[in-house]
Amino acid sequence: MSTAGQVIQCKAAVAWEPRKPLSIEDVEVAPPKVHEVRIKIVATGVCHTDREYLYEAGKGMKFRPFPLVLGHEAAGIVESVGPEVTKFSPGDKVIPLFLPQCGECERCRSPKTNQCRKNWANTQRGVLADGTSRISCKGQQVYQFLGVSSFSQYTVVPDTSLAKIRSDAPLDKVCLLGCGVSTGYGAAINTGKVEKDSSCAVFGLGAVGLAAVMGCKVAGATRIIGVDINTAKFEKAKEFGASECVNPKQCSRPIQEVLVDMTGGGVDYALECVGSPIVMSAALESTIDAWGTCVIVGWTETEAMSVVVEKILMGRTLKGTYFGGWKSVEDVPKLVDDYMNKKLKLDEFITNILPLDQINVAFEDMTSGNSIRTVISLSTEETSGYSYKMNN
Ligand code: NAD
Ligand code: ZN
Ligand code: ZN
Repeated sequence: MSTAGQVIQCKAAVAWEPRKPLSIEDVEVAPPKVHEVRIKIVATGVCHTDREYLYEAGKGMKFRPFPLVLGHEAAGIVESVGPEVTKFSPGDKVIPLFLPQCGECERCRSPKTNQCRKNWANTQRGVLADGTSRISCKGQQVYQFLGVSSFSQYTVVPDTSLAKIRSDAPLDKVCLLGCGVSTGYGAAINTGKVEKDSSCAVFGLGAVGLAAVMGCKVAGATRIIGVDINTAKFEKAKEFGASECVNPKQCSRPIQEVLVDMTGGGVDYALECVGSPIVMSAALESTIDAWGTCVIVGWTETEAMSVVVEKILMGRTLKGTYFGGWKSVEDVPKLVDDYMNKKLKLDEFITNILPLDQINVAFEDMTSGNSIRTVISLSTEETSGYSYKMNN
């Protein structure tokens, strides 16, 4: 029976306040309004950025309004579309996007950036274009994180923040292309423009960093040095293409000096995938003075990094990347194709698959360093190799 036009009751993990675990609640998801699409979320990854906004709110991250449904790395199926939606139909497989691509603004028309600003201010405030959210709980509006909110069995997103993907894509794998893997991979390929036979250092070997290692490998880098304070990440990094790994905690000198010595002057490319201003400065200083490029991938909003002027003066380049430089709506389906054609790894990032009611375990595993990515399964359909029945 069609649910189009009706309010849907479903389960969601609600963040009632900062620094508290998520709470599984019955929520109401309103039908999509003009240029909006309601999707059934089948699977969602838990990204470091979700953790930062929940547990580090006010500490490096701008404050987002609560209550909030987090989650922004997902895949699902279109349930219904609002008025004037022309590019999506019920049943389409889709990946919601925290970065829109309206296709019309000056930034969308420029090949220089992926920074579409459609609905930007509203998205950052946790609401859709009309200034309200489509999710409510116990009669209260629940804000939508980055315009997505995938820790809910259903959500509503703008039609400019949605990529339609091929019908044979396994949603419990390609969800990772909604954020972490696309970001790290694109940081190396699009933003860093890593060259063949170059040397690279990747700081932080979580999902984003491993995807950056994969990008450096695909670009043909010969030396890829993984840097992490958790030695347990090294084996995986080598599987993804790291040629060697270093733990800064086991070095007697600053990591940038170690890397400069290891490479006889500095790496060609450094990618910071941690989100720490101190690591960012170290990453910049680990590149070769004459032409080194440092890409900031790690996310912090209110903190400053320190740059010794001479380090830039000599010819280094410091860049940042948001969603790996990909034009979201048009590039995500191509990344799905690359995965289906075995050009891109995804399965190897997934440490665990858990039901929604164990989502706090995913946060704990990320904090303790026990997981690369936990995928949360929100539906019994369309997930490969795992079946879970929601206890409604
Ligand atoms: P993660 O927590 O899974 O991985 C971070 C890794 O960094 C861990 O392995 C940890 O041990 C390591 N680490 C911590 N401190 C370190 C240090 N001092 N030196 C070296 N390694 C250290 O996180 P993730 O999901 O891979 O995300 C990584 C970063 O990327 C986060 O800051 C996240 O917010 C950011 N991010 C940015 C974008 C973007 O668009 N720019 C998108 C997604 C994620
Ligand atoms: Zn993310
Ligand atoms: Zn645009």
